[in-house]
Amino acid sequence: MPIQPASRHVVPVALVGAGPGGADLLTIRALRLIESADVVIHDRLVSDDILTLAPAQAHVIAAGKQGFGPATPQDAINALITGHARTGARVVRLKGGDPVLFGRLEEEVAALEAAGIAYEIVPGVSAASAAAAAIGQSLTSRGRNSGIRLLTGHDMQGFADHDWRALARPGEVAALYMAKRAARYVQGRLMMHGAAPDTPVTLVENAARPDERILATTLADWPPALNEAGLTGPALTFLGLAPRAARSRISQTIQELA
Ligand code: SAH
Repeated sequence: MPIQPASRHVVPVALVGAGPGGADLLTIRALRLIESADVVIHDRLVSDDILTLAPAQAHVIAAGKQGFGPATPQDAINALITGHARTGARVVRLKGGDPVLFGRLEEEVAALEAAGIAYEIVPGVSAASAAAAAIGQSLTSRGRNSGIRLLTGHDMQGFADHDWRALARPGEVAALYMAKRAARYVQGRLMMHGAAPDTPVTLVENAARPDERILATTLADWPPALNEAGLTGPALTFLGLAPRAARSRISQTIQELA
C-alpha cells in the first residue's frame, strides 16, 4: 500500500511539535509543514536549526513564555495566529516538544475555533521521552511502575499543587516539567507525606541537545545538588527514577571532570 501523501497545509494553521532538540527529532510531517510555511510562530524552546528549515521568505516570529520570566501574552499569540491565517498565509505554530503537553494548546485551539479557522495538530517528541532516553530508562516498566504522572512544577497560581500523598508512595514515578524552581517546595510536600529521603530524583537538562547534562540525586539532596549544578537550560525532573547504573557513572565522571 502506498504511503499516505504528506499533509502539506491542507488547513490554514498547523499546531506542530518541534521535539526536544535538534531538527533530527522532528517528525517528517512537521518538517514538511515547516518547509511550506508562510509564517512560523515559535516558542523559545524551538532550536535555531529547526527555524532555518523555514523558507527564506517565510515570516518567523518568536512568541513564547519563559517560566516566571518575560512572556508574550497568550491573547497576543492567539491574535498573531488568527490574524496571519486570515490573510491566507499558511501558518505553523511551532512548539517545543509535543504541543499536547504543557503547551497551552487548548487556548490556541479555542481561539481558532472561535475565529472559524481550520487547524491540525501534529504531535512531537516530548521532553519526558527524550529525558528517559538520555538516562537509558523506560518511562514505564513491568514490575516497577505500571504508570507515570506527567506534572508541571508551576502553574498560573505559582507552584502547582498535586496529589502529594499518592506521589510519596514507594514506586511512584513522575516526570516534572517546569520544576527547577519548585525543587524545595516539592521536596517539602513529599517529605511531609512520608516519601523516603533516598527516593531517586534525576534531572536531565537540555535533553536530546548537544549540551545535555544529567544530574542524579535523591529527594533529600535535591535542592542543594540542583543549586550546585547551576543548570541554566530547560530541565526535566524525574521523581522515583534513577539513571541506569552505567549511565549514572558516566554522568558522575562528567560532573567530576566539569
Ligand atoms: N511541550 C513541551 C513542554 C513545554 S513546558 C514538551 O512536550 O516537551 C517547558 C518545559 O519542558 C521546560 O521547563 C522543561 O521542563 C521541559 N523541557 C522542554 N524541552 C526540554 C529539553 N530539551 N530538555 C529537558 N527538558 C525540557
